[in-house]
Amino acid sequence: MTHVPSTSADRAPTRPQGARGEGASRPSESELKTKLRDAGLRPTVQRLSLCGLLFGNGDRHVSAEALHAEAREAGLRMSLSTVYNALNQFAGAGLLREIAVQGPRTYFHTRTSPHHHFMDESTGRMFDAVDGSVEFARLPAPPEGMEIVGCDVIIRLRKKKR
Ligand SMILES: [Zn+2]
Repeated sequence: MTHVPSTSADRAPTRPQGARGEGASRPSESELKTKLRDAGLRPTVQRLSLCGLLFGNGDRHVSAEALHAEAREAGLRMSLSTVYNALNQFAGAGLLREIAVQGPRTYFHTRTSPHHHFMDESTGRMFDAVDGSVEFARLPAPPEGMEIVGCDVIIRLRKKKR
């Protein structure tokens, strides 16, 4: 007596489709390309990878040094001056807002609308003050032939003594 293996049609387990985790609001490469092109910049590989770091994590305030360190961590090989030049180009094209804090310390903000900042003086970390929480009572008259385009406040912070 031979056992004939029953060849009942295999029932493939049904898997729910489309159960992939829908990623956060990380912009795709084509979105970043469009962003660069719309700003009048050619989407080079370096610019694209820097944009990925800058615009993939919500609102950010970064210095060239910090972004350079991030790029290295992400395995991107580029010099600090390349990063610095790219940040300046992005700022010039309106993709970033540039704020010079103290001498060489320049911060680039992914949020380009006017807003004010707190800055921790011990670490240099900057973060946004709540919108509408700063009011100006008076500003000096601009020099002859000039007009005021904006006024950025940086509220400096330090740890309370005890
Ligand atoms: Zn900001």
